[in-house]
Amino acid sequence: MLNIDHEKCTRCKVCIRNCPFGALSLVGSSLHVNELCTLCGACVNVCRFGAMSIERKKALPEELAHYKGVFVWAEQDEETSPLKPRKVVLELLGKGRELADKLGEDLVAVVLAGPGEVDTEVYGAHGADRVIVCRHDLLETYSTDGFTNVMCAVITSKKPAVVLYGATPHGRDFAPRVAARLQLGLTADCTGLEINAERQLVQTRPAFGGNIMASIITPYNRPQTATVRPNVFPVPAGKTDSPLMEEVFPVTLNRAVIRTRVVEKRYLDEDGVVSIEDARVIVAGGRGCQKASNLELLQDLAEKLGGVMAGSRAIVEQGWIPHTLQVGQSGTTVGPELYIAAGISGAIQHVVGMSSSKTVIAINKDPEAAIFKTADLGVVGDAVEIIPLLSALIEEKN
Ligand SMILES: Cc1cc2nc3c(=O)[nH]c(=O)nc-3n(C[C@H](O)[C@H](O)[C@H](O)COP(=O)(O)OP(=O)(O)OC[C@H]3O[C@@H](n4cnc5c(N)ncnc54)[C@H](O)[C@@H]3O)c2cc1C
Repeated sequence: MLNIDHEKCTRCKVCIRNCPFGALSLVGSSLHVNELCTLCGACVNVCRFGAMSIERKKALPEELAHYKGVFVWAEQDEETSPLKPRKVVLELLGKGRELADKLGEDLVAVVLAGPGEVDTEVYGAHGADRVIVCRHDLLETYSTDGFTNVMCAVITSKKPAVVLYGATPHGRDFAPRVAARLQLGLTADCTGLEINAERQLVQTRPAFGGNIMASIITPYNRPQTATVRPNVFPVPAGKTDSPLMEEVFPVTLNRAVIRTRVVEKRYLDEDGVVSIEDARVIVAGGRGCQKASNLELLQDLAEKLGGVMAGSRAIVEQGWIPHTLQVGQSGTTVGPELYIAAGISGAIQHVVGMSSSKTVIAINKDPEAAIFKTADLGVVGDAVEIIPLLSALIEEKN
């Protein structure tokens, strides 16, 4: 809560000018804070009269101890029947299992779905102890309001210690809403998750433009919530005989609370846009490819390998490829079987987006290029010469 000491406040308006959210105003002769305040602290920092302070809710350790279990939002692929989870859910179950074992608590998948059939066995097979199924006609298609209401009800009732979401378009939309409504922290786009000696979730993510890795903890609040991009963690091997407890969570949802309506669904591939997220083979080019027309060589190799072409941010900025094909921190995180990096330096912002690839082959003229530290196989040489040689070799083999 933002506290204003009206006796100390001189109505100088410096805080009003510095509030990035327009949350402060003078009402009559006194300063007023509205619901747009995010407690960012900008006003506290600029107030020279010590008139502003922030009071943060701090739960006591004994209160925190009531929160148990690692919950994973099991986002459904709405196009499957029976409904199956998206791949990132299985990746989160793998990591979630490790966290739950460390805490000695349950791993729980939370399914929000319409009336159609749901494949729940997949959760047990990928490490979950329990699945909580929330069903309602209004959950058949994703909506921010509907999903937020139901997830908030699940969290409030079940009190998990940790909630993980895939950083998919829906996850990125929905996880912050839930966090804001329940006044929780949320660490977005984590690349590492661990439990420390104090049983806290240590959430690691790139910060300051990817130049440092920040380790974030949530000491005073539960649950600890985080989003993780697809392809950051591996999918655990599925087992067939794992027992699973299934629980139906009662859902109350009214159409009036859902302020949006889905008019049409369009998929990227229908519009001729290639998705690199699930590609098995990626041939990626960087500025070292020298000119846009050389990317045809990469495209040719990608096709021969049954894969897709992608690239670094440098070539997106040059206008050689669209942003949908950019690999990295401000692009897509990929995890193919084979990643060929041609003329890419290996900047950290690129590497965080492809380091979970199974095999990396790097081609670079500079033997000191950072990409070689990530590569399983490094070729020092001119990518524009080497790529066509590789294509010719593959053609010969076929
Ligand atoms: C906040 C932030 C987010 C970012 N997000 C991303 C992101 O998502 N993805 C991303 O890629 N970058 C991102 N970047 C940019 C990143 O820091 C690098 O600038 C970028 O990755 C460099 O692209 P590059 O390797 O293609 O180009 P360069 O750094 O210019 O490297 C070109 C490489 O090609 C080699 N080379 C030159 N000629 C040849 C040749 N003929 N054959 C073989 N090799 C050759 C050179 O030795 C060099 O290593 C981000 C930066 C910031 C600050």
